[in-house]
Amino acid sequence: MPEHQSTQARWGADYVQAISPYVGGKPIAEVARQFGLEPGRIVKLASNENPLGMSPRAKEAMLAALSDSTRYPDNDGYALKQALATRLGVPAAWITLGHGSSDLLEMAARALLTDADAGMYARYSFIVYTQAVQGVGAQHQVVPDRAFAHDLPAMLAAITPLTKLIFVANPNNPTGTFLSADELHDFLRKVPPHIAVVLDEAYVEYTLPELRYDSMAWVREFPNLIVSRTFSKAYGLAGLRIGYGVAQPALTDVLNRVRSAFNTSTLGQAAALAALDDHDFIEQAYAVNRAGQAQLAEAFDALGLSYIPSQGNFVLVKVGADDGAGARVNLALLRRGVIARPVDNYGLPQWLRISVGTEAENAKCIAALRAHFAES
Ligand SMILES: *Cc1c(COP(=O)(O)O)cnc(C)c1O
Repeated sequence: MPEHQSTQARWGADYVQAISPYVGGKPIAEVARQFGLEPGRIVKLASNENPLGMSPRAKEAMLAALSDSTRYPDNDGYALKQALATRLGVPAAWITLGHGSSDLLEMAARALLTDADAGMYARYSFIVYTQAVQGVGAQHQVVPDRAFAHDLPAMLAAITPLTKLIFVANPNNPTGTFLSADELHDFLRKVPPHIAVVLDEAYVEYTLPELRYDSMAWVREFPNLIVSRTFSKAYGLAGLRIGYGVAQPALTDVLNRVRSAFNTSTLGQAAALAALDDHDFIEQAYAVNRAGQAQLAEAFDALGLSYIPSQGNFVLVKVGADDGAGARVNLALLRRGVIARPVDNYGLPQWLRISVGTEAENAKCIAALRAHFAES
């Protein structure tokens, strides 16, 4: 056998072999092929995208930036960081851009964890935390939830000398639960200062105004805090992969050391910069989401389905009492042209996560659920 024909069947370290690849929401084209449906009639409520699309300003900015895409992007994202700094009231030097905020979560793990350390996160929280911790071969400290929400006292109690990084999502995905400002601030005060905390605010634009808090003030107060945010959700730029993290200089410095070269694109930077100023668009996204949450809640109540009140743009709904329920109802919805998100990989096989769409999209999802439960 020629030497270049390797017979090796397993590559990489054991901890790499143990990584479960990320599974995203099913793309519309794939569902159309698989179920023989017209793509135009399929409703995707699987990835918490903005059903309104994106700000027209973002599109215009991208068209203008298209020809610049021959060149490498600005590796420092100067213009976007300046705009974010002004908006957030922090120095631009405290901001790190990422290809989506998932990039920030992984940078945090690469910068702060080794295979001798442990990363902590809550059960039923964002799956990228699991992957980020596993990706560096660190130990997982998965803390049981309290009624599907983060149990912050239990997380504090679970800290060991190995713990170097803690992920907290607020609002949380996939549960939509929300921690109050007081609870979170108290937690941040009690986490030992040598342990970094990532506060993942991917859905911050959707939370009720009266629940909001000034996490930038917390970044000033706590040198161990990284706040991450994204343009993927309310801003409707998921396909452009752009997000950011805010932290004091010492933490920002290590994030930048592990950041891959040119990790955000010219188009992503341009779109985010233009989208940032479109306040009307974000207000509209907020309003459509609140109306859609009410529409879905009413339908779930009528169907006798329990669900978890959500501060995000999605809702976790219990679709049956057996562990096949999520997969079964998901398939029933797919057949009717509705893509929801099974969450068995989160340990929630009786539930589905449904993103809030436009009124018409929600109605299609509700009709599909009704038809399924009427038959079964
Ligand atoms: C969607 C999401 C993100 C961000 O995804 P990106 O597209 O990588 O910015 C981060 N955290 C949570 C909890 C999310 O649900």
